[in-house]
Amino acid sequence: MPKSAVSIEERIDRLHAHGIVDLHFDMLMDLYEKRDRTNVLATDYLEELRAGGVGVVAAAIYIEDRYLPEIALRVGLDQIARLEREVDQSDDFAICKSYEEIVRARQSNKVALLIAMEGVEPLGRDLDLLRMFYELGVRCIGLTHARRNPAGSGGIFAATGSPRDGLTAFGRDLVRECESLGVIVDLAHINPAGFDEVLAITTRPPIVSHTNARKLYDVERNISDEQIKMIGQRRGVIGINSVLVSPKKEESTLDRYVDHVEHVINLIGIDGVGVGFDFFEFIYRQWPEAKKQDMAAKLATPHFISDLRNHSHARNLTRKLIERGFNDNEIEKIVRENWMRIFRELLQASGS
Ligand SMILES: [Zn+2]
Repeated sequence: MPKSAVSIEERIDRLHAHGIVDLHFDMLMDLYEKRDRTNVLATDYLEELRAGGVGVVAAAIYIEDRYLPEIALRVGLDQIARLEREVDQSDDFAICKSYEEIVRARQSNKVALLIAMEGVEPLGRDLDLLRMFYELGVRCIGLTHARRNPAGSGGIFAATGSPRDGLTAFGRDLVRECESLGVIVDLAHINPAGFDEVLAITTRPPIVSHTNARKLYDVERNISDEQIKMIGQRRGVIGINSVLVSPKKEESTLDRYVDHVEHVINLIGIDGVGVGFDFFEFIYRQWPEAKKQDMAAKLATPHFISDLRNHSHARNLTRKLIERGFNDNEIEKIVRENWMRIFRELLQASGS
């Protein structure tokens, strides 16, 4: 390797030494589907996470259509139960419920897992169940995926046509309760009307765990410049998604990913952007063809970035950020520090 390449690799080592933070990963539905096996975390995930220098992952509960509505609660609980069992079998992971627990896990070189929920289907219409999931460790909640549920409606994968209504009364109660418990409210996927309403009834910095700029991929599931500015005005953070960087396969590149990062920075500054990779190919490739076609029809065909497809590729992002001229301080904010600030500020009950 030439000397300059060695020094770049050493620089990446340094930037990843404290672990990078990924705010969206569909780990729990995969663990659930692999429930006949043991040590799945160690055999299927650990190597890639370590190779990429990943330190904190928001592991999301997600309920597939086939479990709706009544089995959603059972599957949601079981996804957490699988995670608990798996973490017990490994010295390399820790489920974290506070900023302090995340810091402690990192100090002992464990991968810190924050349990998230993508779509509140497991709660049904029962606000009391939010409290129960909180007790079980859920610390980040997005009200919806793409579909409508008792809390609100998701943004669709088209430039117009999402449901025009905002949150339901139940959705508003949930958001208020999340804010008072110290659960991060995640605006990923919510339709534009729901987005506005969440901002209107909350006071803390808002986040979008995994999304892209509509300027570069214009669907209502992504966020507009105006929405990006609203997040920035409240000192929130936007995580950039790797599977929706462009509607075109040939444009779905690492450079395009960084274009989204830069677009957010140009609008709201370096403190407003983070990573929410949404690495999904490992699940997608397990699906039968019919299920892939169903996803393409209902949502969109994901275009995976060839050199940013899983956590082992995280160093490629940092290398690209260096190549594009970001300094170390800026890169640290993008890959870790902005999310760590959000954990520090939001993972505590209001008033405490
Ligand atoms: Zn998602």
